[in-house]
Amino acid sequence: MDCCGHEGRGSGDARFEIQKVADGVHVAVAAPAYKVNSNTAIIESDDGVVIVDTHSKPSAARVIVERLRDITTKPVRYVVNTHFHWDHWHGNEVYPAAYPHAEIVTNQLTREAMVTKGLKRVQDHVRQVPREIAQLKADLAAAGAPAERAKLETSVRLAESYLAEVKALKPALPTIAFEQTMKLYRRDREIHLLYLGRAHTEGDVFVYLPREKVVVTGDAVIGWTPFMGDGYPEDWTATLDRLAQLDFTTMIMGHGYVAGRNWLSTFRGYIHDMVGAVRDEAAAGATLEEVQQRVPAKLAPTYEKAFSVYGHYRPWRQGIMANIERTYAMVG
Ligand SMILES: [Zn+2]
Repeated sequence: MDCCGHEGRGSGDARFEIQKVADGVHVAVAAPAYKVNSNTAIIESDDGVVIVDTHSKPSAARVIVERLRDITTKPVRYVVNTHFHWDHWHGNEVYPAAYPHAEIVTNQLTREAMVTKGLKRVQDHVRQVPREIAQLKADLAAAGAPAERAKLETSVRLAESYLAEVKALKPALPTIAFEQTMKLYRRDREIHLLYLGRAHTEGDVFVYLPREKVVVTGDAVIGWTPFMGDGYPEDWTATLDRLAQLDFTTMIMGHGYVAGRNWLSTFRGYIHDMVGAVRDEAAAGATLEEVQQRVPAKLAPTYEKAFSVYGHYRPWRQGIMANIERTYAMVG
């Protein structure tokens, strides 16, 4: 049962912490939840606002629209999607509804991925989430400890509200698509949208502010162990090397808190070492099971701690098993 009838401000269940990154540049850091939400970058210019990524559901994007009023009275002009994953674009429809002149922008590869894969996955979620809810309820019935019960109760509530929203979704595809690079020149700011090669998906978009030395990475760099299910582990490090060539000091990532160049080198090191180790094992004839035994043990001393800051959300040991499986399939 829904409670309290919250209207307007904070009516969605998504929670964000808004931080200033530079003059006129903010990040809304999403609290990790059962149904994950992406962060949003908020970039204000003389004639309006650029928003990067729109979360997993319209109500989360509506929370941002509400919070935006504390930051600026300017309208949102552009909404950028960094890649085709559901938790970065399901909220798109909110912006053209709230701001009639808003355009949704991404590159051609990501727009195509939204059409060929993203729209289908909306329907997959409509089918799959009821099963997830049933499982959560079964876990809840079996749970004893109050803390575990409370966590599962929250998850059930989030899953049910997500299901209601995804059923009603009116997917808003990008209205502008570029090939390699698109640059917005504003009186007080330059905003570069870049394609640097394959990484987390085939079409990752980076948003670069050269004057402020800020880059928005989408999920090509995040605060915990990456999801590689649609990724290109063998291309990923080369793409991050092109990212490293940009002159920046601050990264707004798809998930997790704002980070600097140190985290980029740790994150790149993990992917580089994981791919190298899997490739060596595969070349020596190891089975997937053997690789999944040996490689985490080999990399743990260097990476386990660094990737466990959000360990409660996606434990490194669990993440690397999936990463190895994807990489093994691609190098095999
Ligand atoms: Zn993603």
